[in-house]
Amino acid sequence: MYRILSGIMTLTQHIATLLSNPESYRPPQCPTCFLAGLWKHGFYTRKADRCVILTDESHPPILIPRYLCPGCGHTCSRLPSCIPPGRWYSWLFQQKVLLYLLGSYTLHGCQTRFAVCRSTIRRWWNWLISRTSVFEFNLRSRIPEWGRFADFESFWIGALNCMPLSEMMASLDHDGLIIP
Ligand SMILES: [Zn+2]
Repeated sequence: MYRILSGIMTLTQHIATLLSNPESYRPPQCPTCFLAGLWKHGFYTRKADRCVILTDESHPPILIPRYLCPGCGHTCSRLPSCIPPGRWYSWLFQQKVLLYLLGSYTLHGCQTRFAVCRSTIRRWWNWLISRTSVFEFNLRSRIPEWGRFADFESFWIGALNCMPLSEMMASLDHDGLIIP
């Protein structure tokens, strides 16, 4: 899958890259029929990171480029790696929350510190637990040194100190895994 463009770590970088190098967003092939040479097909708008919206109500919606396949007629879009496909908080924010929990801090402490409802934090945490074996397998196949991390906590703390969560998710999306 090529749903996510890696290396775009912030919304500011996304906006600048769309202006300076829009070609970098064009997927190498159609995700449906795998034909290369997709056509530009405008943009759709997406709400920005919830943390940005909460601190800056005037922040405009973010443009996400769309593409049309001349072979099968399907459309697709390409997200910058800083924006999760289906969650309203940035990967960077989720990474901070998960690292806090991995440090053995409590859900209650996490809720107080980050001002996110407990059910959301619990959902992210349960997602990480349930997907870890698959994610670990794929990430270790790319970065064999991560095999030295012996357990759940040490794997994620060690891996997140080497690579942002956003870039891990872009890599796993590229491997065809479902990313929230
Ligand atoms: Zn196609």
